[in-house]
Amino acid sequence: MARNMSDDTASPSGEIFPERSARIGFSRNRLVRHSERREKASDIAAMMALPEARSFVIAGDVPILRRDGEAFTPRFTMAEAGALAPVAETALLGTLDGTPLFATLIAAGEAERLKESGLFAIDLRSIAVQGLLPQDELGPLGEGKALMDWHRRHGFCANCGARTASASGGWRRDCAACGAQHFPRTDPVVIMLSVRGERCLLGRQARFAPGMYSCLAGFVEPGETVEDAVRRETMEEAGIRTGRVRYLASQPWPFPSSLMIGCLAEALDEDLVVDAIELEHARWFTRAEVGAMLRGEHPDGLTAPLPFAIAHHILKAFVEEGEGF
Ligand SMILES: [Zn+2]
Repeated sequence: MARNMSDDTASPSGEIFPERSARIGFSRNRLVRHSERREKASDIAAMMALPEARSFVIAGDVPILRRDGEAFTPRFTMAEAGALAPVAETALLGTLDGTPLFATLIAAGEAERLKESGLFAIDLRSIAVQGLLPQDELGPLGEGKALMDWHRRHGFCANCGARTASASGGWRRDCAACGAQHFPRTDPVVIMLSVRGERCLLGRQARFAPGMYSCLAGFVEPGETVEDAVRRETMEEAGIRTGRVRYLASQPWPFPSSLMIGCLAEALDEDLVVDAIELEHARWFTRAEVGAMLRGEHPDGLTAPLPFAIAHHILKAFVEEGEGF
């Protein structure tokens, strides 16, 4: 199989397959996670002791980077990672081409001190937007950031309130007081493009950059399918009934721990009733107009989300691949 590096993604065993999801920031992740070895503390310790083992270092929720020639790298040797600051947590993220990769959590307050010593503390969104790291590194770093941030925010048992402790190579927290086991959470979010013939529905939130429009989105609620969440959110935010729903691609979104599930939605109505609390504005856009926005050539200066966001790729599928109903 031809391996086009920009279009491939990893299976759990590290093979790569071409699919839409793999083109999106944070989605491309070639780590083999070795979940079956997490329970064996001796295995984890042996991997950590290998001279080629490396670790990301996360200060609170901010990755620490260092200069590597002209480029940046988030990788430190295990000794370096352990010496930067007191280590709060460590987790095995997986192996990449046989090399173990860990994540190390240090206190958020250490970032300023490390910056003074010549290192860089740059939030993950800025790293992605500015393209500071290779695409291959963004997925594993997002994994590490999401996992460390979860540890940081789940130091106490949600069941009884006692302190919890990391277990299973950093992929679980156990409560000794009540026996509860807590697992890292992933919160599903639907992000959808409502399509009606040659037009699609885009909206903007007040916090967006001026002139930027994007897909509507919302969290999936308990008891809801992906399709029903698409239909509910589209009705709540824009007053539009939805028919068919089709899955397009997904994207881990580590802010703090979402999984964006990208869908196309068949709009059954045209008249918008916009929820002014959720959206500042929403309207229908033609395929040609969205194409101009993606290219940065819209006559009114309107723009679409950048390529590191899944919305960009959903819009591209509509414009360039003729996706629709
Ligand atoms: Zn408990």
